[in-house]
Amino acid sequence: MEKTIATFVDDLGPAKIICIQEPSIHLQGILVVDNVAAGPSIGGLRMAENVSMGECVRLARAMTLKNAAAGLAHGGGKSVLFGNPKMEHKQKENLIRGFAYALRGESDYIFGPDMGTNEECMAWVKDEIGRAVGLPSEIGGIPLDIIGATGWGLYHTIDVALEHIHLPLQGARIVIQGFGAVGKHAARFLTEHGGVLVGASDSKGSLYNPEGLDVQALIDIKGQGKSIIDSTQGVAGGVDAVIDMECDIWIPAARPDVLHKDNIHRLSAKLVAQGANIPLTADAEKYLHDHGVLVIPDFIANAGGVICAAMEYHSASQTASMQTIEEKIRRNTEEVLELAKKHSLLPREAAVQLSRSRLEKAMHLKRWRIF
Ligand code: NAD
Repeated sequence: MEKTIATFVDDLGPAKIICIQEPSIHLQGILVVDNVAAGPSIGGLRMAENVSMGECVRLARAMTLKNAAAGLAHGGGKSVLFGNPKMEHKQKENLIRGFAYALRGESDYIFGPDMGTNEECMAWVKDEIGRAVGLPSEIGGIPLDIIGATGWGLYHTIDVALEHIHLPLQGARIVIQGFGAVGKHAARFLTEHGGVLVGASDSKGSLYNPEGLDVQALIDIKGQGKSIIDSTQGVAGGVDAVIDMECDIWIPAARPDVLHKDNIHRLSAKLVAQGANIPLTADAEKYLHDHGVLVIPDFIANAGGVICAAMEYHSASQTASMQTIEEKIRRNTEEVLELAKKHSLLPREAAVQLSRSRLEKAMHLKRWRIF
Protein backbone atom coordinates (compact mmCIF):
# COMPACT_ATOMS: atom_id res chain seq x y z
CA MET A 1 0.00 0.00 0.00
CA GLU A 2 1.32 3.43 -0.88
CA LYS A 3 2.01 5.59 2.19
CA THR A 4 1.26 9.31 2.36
CA ILE A 5 3.47 11.72 4.25
CA ALA A 6 0.78 11.99 6.94
CA THR A 7 1.46 8.36 7.87
CA PHE A 8 4.81 9.41 9.31
CA VAL A 9 3.81 12.54 11.19
CA ASP A 10 2.68 12.91 14.81
CA ASP A 11 2.89 15.51 17.58
CA LEU A 12 6.67 15.11 17.96
CA GLY A 13 7.76 15.20 14.33
CA PRO A 14 9.39 14.78 11.92
CA ALA A 15 10.31 18.45 11.72
CA LYS A 16 11.60 17.91 8.19
CA ILE A 17 12.39 15.29 5.60
CA ILE A 18 14.89 16.20 2.89
CA CYS A 19 15.61 14.14 -0.22
CA ILE A 20 18.94 14.68 -1.94
CA GLN A 21 19.57 13.67 -5.53
CA GLU A 22 22.61 14.33 -7.72
CA PRO A 23 22.38 12.07 -10.79
CA SER A 24 25.83 13.01 -12.14
CA ILE A 25 27.53 11.06 -9.30
CA HIS A 26 24.62 8.64 -8.62
CA LEU A 27 23.99 10.26 -5.26
CA GLN A 28 20.64 9.63 -3.61
CA GLY A 29 19.89 10.12 0.06
CA ILE A 30 17.36 11.14 2.68
CA LEU A 31 17.67 13.16 5.85
CA VAL A 32 14.97 12.99 8.50
CA VAL A 33 15.21 15.59 11.24
CA ASP A 34 12.64 14.37 13.71
CA ASN A 35 12.53 16.79 16.64
CA VAL A 36 14.85 19.64 17.54
CA ALA A 37 13.16 21.10 20.62
CA ALA A 38 16.15 20.20 22.80
CA GLY A 39 18.75 21.26 20.25
CA PRO A 40 20.19 20.22 16.87
CA SER A 41 19.57 16.57 16.14
CA ILE A 42 22.28 13.92 16.37
CA GLY A 43 21.86 10.61 14.53
CA GLY A 44 23.71 8.15 12.38
CA LEU A 45 24.40 8.24 8.66
CA ARG A 46 23.43 4.79 7.41
CA MET A 47 24.79 3.62 4.09
CA ALA A 48 22.72 0.84 2.60
CA GLU A 49 21.09 -0.17 -0.66
CA ASN A 50 17.55 -0.53 0.61
CA VAL A 51 16.23 1.54 3.49
CA SER A 52 12.69 2.83 3.18
CA MET A 53 11.54 6.31 4.06
CA GLY A 54 9.39 4.80 6.83
CA GLU A 55 12.41 3.03 8.33
CA CYS A 56 14.43 6.23 8.26
CA VAL A 57 11.59 8.07 10.02
CA ARG A 58 11.37 5.37 12.72
CA LEU A 59 15.14 5.39 13.24
CA ALA A 60 15.09 9.18 13.59
CA ARG A 61 12.30 8.91 16.20
CA ALA A 62 14.29 6.31 18.12
CA MET A 63 17.12 8.87 18.29
CA THR A 64 14.71 11.58 19.49
CA LEU A 65 13.58 9.35 22.36
CA LYS A 66 17.10 8.17 23.16
CA ASN A 67 18.58 11.67 23.21
CA ALA A 68 15.70 13.02 25.29
CA ALA A 69 15.92 10.11 27.72
CA ALA A 70 19.64 10.80 28.07
CA GLY A 71 18.85 14.46 28.81
CA LEU A 72 21.06 15.69 25.96
CA ALA A 73 20.74 19.15 24.44
CA HIS A 74 20.11 17.39 21.12
CA GLY A 75 17.12 16.18 19.18
CA GLY A 76 16.91 13.10 16.99
CA GLY A 77 17.61 12.61 13.31
CA LYS A 78 18.82 10.02 10.86
CA SER A 79 20.19 10.07 7.35
CA VAL A 80 20.43 7.39 4.71
CA LEU A 81 22.75 7.34 1.72
CA PHE A 82 21.72 4.75 -0.84
CA GLY A 83 24.52 2.49 -2.05
CA ASN A 84 26.59 -0.54 -1.21
CA PRO A 85 28.82 0.44 1.75
CA LYS A 86 31.48 -1.95 0.44
CA MET A 87 31.81 -0.02 -2.85
CA GLU A 88 35.21 1.19 -4.00
CA HIS A 89 36.74 3.45 -1.33
CA LYS A 90 37.19 6.58 -3.46
CA GLN A 91 33.64 6.35 -4.81
CA LYS A 92 32.30 6.01 -1.26
CA GLU A 93 34.30 9.04 -0.16
CA ASN A 94 32.91 11.07 -3.09
CA LEU A 95 29.35 10.11 -2.28
CA ILE A 96 29.65 10.83 1.43
CA ARG A 97 31.39 14.14 0.82
CA GLY A 98 28.74 15.03 -1.77
CA PHE A 99 25.88 14.10 0.54
CA ALA A 100 27.37 16.10 3.43
CA TYR A 101 27.97 19.10 1.18
CA ALA A 102 24.40 18.98 -0.10
CA LEU A 103 23.28 19.19 3.54
CA ARG A 104 25.76 21.92 4.48
CA GLY A 105 22.96 24.35 5.35
CA GLU A 106 21.08 21.90 7.57
CA SER A 107 22.45 23.03 10.89
CA ASP A 108 19.65 21.09 12.64
CA TYR A 109 21.50 17.84 11.92
CA ILE A 110 24.83 16.51 13.18
CA PHE A 111 26.12 13.39 11.41
CA GLY A 112 27.22 10.31 13.37
CA PRO A 113 28.43 6.85 12.30
CA ASP A 114 25.94 4.03 11.76
CA MET A 115 25.70 0.84 9.72
CA GLY A 116 27.93 1.15 6.65
CA THR A 117 29.83 4.22 7.90
CA ASN A 118 32.70 4.65 10.33
CA GLU A 119 34.97 7.28 11.89
CA GLU A 120 36.83 7.85 8.61
CA CYS A 121 33.50 8.69 6.94
CA MET A 122 32.76 11.12 9.77
CA ALA A 123 36.15 12.76 9.17
CA TRP A 124 35.11 13.39 5.53
CA VAL A 125 31.83 14.93 6.72
CA LYS A 126 33.62 17.08 9.28
CA ASP A 127 36.05 18.22 6.59
CA GLU A 128 33.16 19.23 4.31
CA ILE A 129 30.74 20.89 6.73
CA GLY A 130 32.19 20.76 10.26
CA ARG A 131 29.22 18.93 11.80
CA ALA A 132 30.00 15.31 12.69
CA VAL A 133 30.59 13.13 15.76
CA GLY A 134 32.33 9.77 16.10
CA LEU A 135 35.54 11.23 14.66
CA PRO A 136 39.05 9.76 14.64
CA SER A 137 41.00 10.74 17.76
CA GLU A 138 43.53 12.68 15.62
CA ILE A 139 40.85 15.30 14.97
CA GLY A 140 39.28 15.38 18.41
CA GLY A 141 37.23 12.19 18.42
CA ILE A 142 36.69 9.95 21.44
CA PRO A 143 37.08 6.30 20.33
CA LEU A 144 33.85 5.16 21.97
CA ASP A 145 33.99 1.54 20.80
CA ILE A 146 37.58 1.20 22.03
CA ILE A 147 36.93 2.68 25.45
CA GLY A 148 33.60 0.84 25.69
CA ALA A 149 31.23 3.81 26.20
CA THR A 150 28.09 1.75 25.62
CA GLY A 151 29.33 -1.18 27.69
CA TRP A 152 30.11 1.25 30.53
CA GLY A 153 26.53 2.52 30.40
CA LEU A 154 25.22 -1.05 30.38
CA TYR A 155 27.21 -1.85 33.48
CA HIS A 156 25.64 1.10 35.30
CA THR A 157 22.08 0.43 34.15
CA ILE A 158 22.48 -3.19 35.32
CA ASP A 159 23.97 -2.15 38.64
CA VAL A 160 20.95 0.08 39.35
CA ALA A 161 18.43 -2.48 38.06
CA LEU A 162 19.91 -5.22 40.25
CA GLU A 163 19.23 -3.12 43.34
CA HIS A 164 15.57 -3.03 42.29
CA ILE A 165 15.34 -6.80 42.12
CA HIS A 166 17.53 -7.31 45.21
CA LEU A 167 20.16 -9.31 43.40
CA PRO A 168 23.85 -8.64 44.09
CA LEU A 169 26.18 -8.28 41.10
CA GLN A 170 28.78 -10.24 43.05
CA GLY A 171 28.48 -13.77 41.69
CA ALA A 172 25.58 -12.97 39.31
CA ARG A 173 25.71 -15.20 36.21
CA ILE A 174 25.82 -13.23 32.96
CA VAL A 175 25.19 -14.32 29.37
CA ILE A 176 25.96 -12.01 26.45
CA GLN A 177 24.69 -12.46 22.92
CA GLY A 178 27.11 -10.72 20.55
CA PHE A 179 30.70 -10.33 21.76
CA GLY A 180 31.44 -7.17 19.75
CA ALA A 181 32.13 -3.57 20.72
CA VAL A 182 29.14 -3.40 23.06
CA GLY A 183 29.12 -6.96 24.39
CA LYS A 184 32.80 -7.39 25.21
CA HIS A 185 33.07 -4.12 27.13
CA ALA A 186 29.88 -4.83 29.07
CA ALA A 187 31.43 -8.21 29.97
CA ARG A 188 34.66 -6.52 31.02
CA PHE A 189 33.05 -3.91 33.29
CA LEU A 190 30.55 -6.34 34.82
CA THR A 191 33.14 -9.00 35.63
CA GLU A 192 35.51 -6.36 37.03
CA HIS A 193 32.71 -5.62 39.52
CA GLY A 194 32.04 -9.20 40.60
CA GLY A 195 29.76 -10.61 37.88
CA VAL A 196 30.56 -13.97 36.29
CA LEU A 197 30.33 -14.37 32.52
CA VAL A 198 29.01 -17.91 32.04
CA GLY A 199 28.06 -17.68 28.37
CA ALA A 200 28.62 -15.63 25.25
CA SER A 201 28.10 -15.83 21.53
CA ASP A 202 29.11 -14.26 18.25
CA SER A 203 27.95 -14.82 14.69
CA LYS A 204 29.80 -18.18 14.53
CA GLY A 205 28.48 -19.83 17.69
CA SER A 206 28.30 -19.79 21.48
CA LEU A 207 30.46 -20.75 24.44
CA TYR A 208 29.26 -21.87 27.89
CA ASN A 209 31.06 -22.48 31.15
CA PRO A 210 29.05 -22.37 34.41
CA GLU A 211 32.31 -21.79 36.32
CA GLY A 212 32.92 -18.57 34.39
CA LEU A 213 34.74 -17.52 31.24
CA ASP A 214 37.94 -15.47 31.19
CA VAL A 215 36.75 -12.24 29.54
CA GLN A 216 40.19 -10.89 28.63
CA ALA A 217 41.11 -14.18 26.94
CA LEU A 218 37.91 -13.93 24.84
CA ILE A 219 38.66 -10.30 23.96
CA ASP A 220 42.16 -11.37 22.86
CA ILE A 221 40.74 -14.13 20.65
CA LYS A 222 38.30 -11.71 19.02
CA GLY A 223 41.20 -9.27 18.56
CA GLN A 224 42.94 -11.91 16.45
CA GLY A 225 39.94 -11.96 14.12
CA LYS A 226 38.75 -15.34 15.44
CA SER A 227 35.46 -16.45 16.95
CA ILE A 228 34.90 -17.03 20.65
CA ILE A 229 34.20 -20.68 19.80
CA ASP A 230 37.91 -20.99 18.97
CA SER A 231 38.48 -20.73 22.72
CA THR A 232 38.83 -23.96 24.71
CA GLN A 233 37.48 -22.37 27.88
CA GLY A 234 34.02 -23.91 27.75
CA VAL A 235 31.55 -25.95 25.76
CA ALA A 236 30.96 -24.60 22.26
CA GLY A 237 27.46 -24.66 20.79
CA GLY A 238 25.27 -23.18 18.08
CA VAL A 239 24.47 -19.48 17.83
CA ASP A 240 20.98 -20.01 19.20
CA ALA A 241 22.12 -21.99 22.28
CA VAL A 242 22.81 -18.71 24.05
CA ILE A 243 19.06 -18.32 24.71
CA ASP A 244 18.93 -21.55 26.76
CA MET A 245 21.88 -20.85 29.03
CA GLU A 246 21.04 -20.68 32.75
CA CYS A 247 21.81 -17.18 34.01
CA ASP A 248 20.68 -14.17 36.07
CA ILE A 249 21.44 -11.42 33.55
CA TRP A 250 20.99 -11.74 29.77
CA ILE A 251 22.40 -9.06 27.50
CA PRO A 252 21.44 -8.96 23.82
CA ALA A 253 24.23 -7.05 22.03
CA ALA A 254 23.96 -8.26 18.44
CA ARG A 255 20.89 -8.00 16.23
CA PRO A 256 17.28 -6.74 16.31
CA ASP A 257 14.32 -9.04 17.13
CA VAL A 258 16.42 -11.92 18.49
CA LEU A 259 13.87 -12.70 21.21
CA HIS A 260 10.30 -13.13 20.02
CA LYS A 261 7.11 -14.98 20.90
CA ASP A 262 8.43 -18.35 19.67
CA ASN A 263 11.62 -18.46 21.75
CA ILE A 264 11.07 -16.13 24.70
CA HIS A 265 9.85 -18.94 27.01
CA ARG A 266 13.36 -20.46 26.82
CA LEU A 267 15.03 -17.59 28.67
CA SER A 268 15.85 -18.17 32.37
CA ALA A 269 17.25 -14.74 33.33
CA LYS A 270 15.87 -12.39 35.99
CA LEU A 271 17.14 -9.27 34.22
CA VAL A 272 17.52 -8.40 30.54
CA ALA A 273 19.49 -5.26 29.67
CA GLN A 274 19.21 -4.35 26.01
CA GLY A 275 22.58 -3.50 24.50
CA ALA A 276 21.42 -3.88 20.90
CA ASN A 277 18.66 -1.77 19.39
CA ILE A 278 15.19 -3.40 19.48
CA PRO A 279 16.52 -6.89 20.31
CA LEU A 280 13.12 -7.99 21.66
CA THR A 281 9.77 -7.82 19.90
CA ALA A 282 7.00 -6.04 21.80
CA ASP A 283 5.25 -9.32 22.69
CA ALA A 284 8.50 -10.84 23.98
CA GLU A 285 9.05 -7.81 26.20
CA LYS A 286 5.48 -8.08 27.53
CA TYR A 287 5.91 -11.84 28.13
CA LEU A 288 8.99 -11.23 30.28
CA HIS A 289 7.27 -8.46 32.23
CA ASP A 290 4.29 -10.74 32.93
CA HIS A 291 6.70 -13.43 34.14
CA GLY A 292 8.50 -11.13 36.57
CA VAL A 293 11.62 -10.53 34.48
CA LEU A 294 12.92 -6.97 34.53
CA VAL A 295 13.77 -5.61 31.05
CA ILE A 296 15.73 -2.38 30.66
CA PRO A 297 14.82 -0.97 27.24
CA ASP A 298 17.44 -0.24 24.60
CA PHE A 299 17.26 3.54 24.53
CA ILE A 300 17.91 3.71 28.29
CA ALA A 301 20.47 0.89 28.53
CA ASN A 302 22.55 1.53 25.41
CA ALA A 303 22.65 5.35 25.44
CA GLY A 304 26.34 5.41 26.46
CA GLY A 305 27.46 5.71 22.84
CA VAL A 306 25.35 8.73 21.96
CA ILE A 307 26.11 10.44 25.27
CA CYS A 308 29.81 10.01 24.47
CA ALA A 309 29.25 11.34 20.93
CA ALA A 310 27.43 14.43 22.24
CA MET A 311 30.22 15.03 24.74
CA GLU A 312 32.76 14.76 21.91
CA TYR A 313 30.80 17.35 19.92
CA HIS A 314 31.11 19.76 22.83
CA SER A 315 34.87 19.07 23.10
CA ALA A 316 34.67 17.21 26.42
CA SER A 317 37.46 14.89 27.51
CA GLN A 318 37.21 11.11 27.54
CA THR A 319 37.19 11.08 31.35
CA ALA A 320 34.37 13.63 31.53
CA SER A 321 32.41 11.62 28.96
CA MET A 322 32.64 8.41 30.98
CA GLN A 323 31.58 10.28 34.13
CA THR A 324 28.59 11.78 32.32
CA ILE A 325 27.53 8.37 30.99
CA GLU A 326 27.65 6.97 34.51
CA GLU A 327 25.70 9.86 35.99
CA LYS A 328 23.01 10.07 33.29
CA ILE A 329 22.42 6.36 32.86
CA ARG A 330 22.21 5.67 36.59
CA ARG A 331 19.74 8.53 37.07
CA ASN A 332 17.62 7.58 34.06
CA THR A 333 17.45 3.91 35.01
CA GLU A 334 16.42 4.91 38.52
CA GLU A 335 13.71 7.27 37.22
CA VAL A 336 12.36 4.77 34.71
CA LEU A 337 12.15 1.97 37.26
CA GLU A 338 10.49 4.21 39.86
CA LEU A 339 7.93 5.44 37.31
CA ALA A 340 7.25 1.90 36.09
CA LYS A 341 6.71 0.70 39.66
CA LYS A 342 4.51 3.63 40.66
CA HIS A 343 2.15 3.31 37.67
CA SER A 344 2.48 -0.43 37.01
CA LEU A 345 3.99 0.17 33.59
CA LEU A 346 6.42 -1.77 31.48
CA PRO A 347 9.86 -0.14 31.82
CA ARG A 348 9.68 0.73 28.11
CA GLU A 349 6.35 2.52 28.60
CA ALA A 350 7.82 4.41 31.54
CA ALA A 351 10.91 5.29 29.49
CA VAL A 352 8.80 6.63 26.60
CA GLN A 353 6.77 8.67 29.11
CA LEU A 354 9.94 10.10 30.60
CA SER A 355 11.33 11.05 27.17
CA ARG A 356 8.03 12.50 25.99
CA SER A 357 7.60 14.63 29.09
CA ARG A 358 11.13 16.03 28.63
CA LEU A 359 10.42 16.69 24.94
CA GLU A 360 7.08 18.35 25.64
CA LYS A 361 8.69 20.65 28.19
CA ALA A 362 11.43 21.51 25.68
CA MET A 363 8.82 22.10 22.96
CA HIS A 364 6.90 24.52 25.21
CA LEU A 365 10.04 26.60 25.54
CA LYS A 366 10.18 27.11 21.77
CA ARG A 367 8.53 29.95 19.88
CA TRP A 368 7.06 27.58 17.31
CA ARG A 369 5.32 24.80 19.15
CA ILE A 370 4.59 21.70 17.16
CA PHE A 371 1.46 21.02 19.20
P1 NAD B 1 29.80 -5.18 16.53
O1 NAD B 1 29.72 -5.41 15.08
O2 NAD B 1 31.06 -4.64 17.11
O3 NAD B 1 29.46 -6.53 17.30
C1 NAD B 1 28.37 -7.33 17.02
C2 NAD B 1 28.69 -8.73 17.51
O4 NAD B 1 27.52 -9.52 17.34
C3 NAD B 1 29.80 -9.43 16.72
O5 NAD B 1 30.65 -10.10 17.62
C4 NAD B 1 29.06 -10.42 15.84
O6 NAD B 1 29.84 -11.58 15.57
C5 NAD B 1 27.90 -10.75 16.74
N1 NAD B 1 26.73 -11.31 16.07
C6 NAD B 1 26.20 -11.01 14.86
N2 NAD B 1 25.12 -11.76 14.63
C7 NAD B 1 24.98 -12.54 15.72
C8 NAD B 1 24.04 -13.54 16.08
N3 NAD B 1 23.02 -13.86 15.28
N4 NAD B 1 24.18 -14.13 17.29
C9 NAD B 1 25.18 -13.79 18.10
N5 NAD B 1 26.09 -12.86 17.82
C10 NAD B 1 25.98 -12.26 16.63
O7 NAD B 1 28.55 -4.23 16.86
P2 NAD B 1 28.33 -3.36 18.17
O8 NAD B 1 28.83 -2.00 17.94
O9 NAD B 1 28.79 -4.13 19.36
O10 NAD B 1 26.75 -3.25 18.17
C11 NAD B 1 25.92 -4.31 18.59
C12 NAD B 1 24.49 -3.84 18.64
O11 NAD B 1 24.38 -2.74 19.55
C13 NAD B 1 23.93 -3.30 17.32
O12 NAD B 1 22.55 -3.62 17.30
C14 NAD B 1 24.11 -1.80 17.43
O13 NAD B 1 23.18 -1.10 16.64
C15 NAD B 1 23.82 -1.61 18.90
N6 NAD B 1 24.40 -0.40 19.50
C16 NAD B 1 25.75 -0.17 19.43
C17 NAD B 1 26.28 0.93 20.06
C18 NAD B 1 27.77 1.20 20.06
O14 NAD B 1 28.19 2.08 20.80
N7 NAD B 1 28.57 0.47 19.32
C19 NAD B 1 25.44 1.84 20.74
C20 NAD B 1 24.08 1.58 20.80
C21 NAD B 1 23.57 0.43 20.18
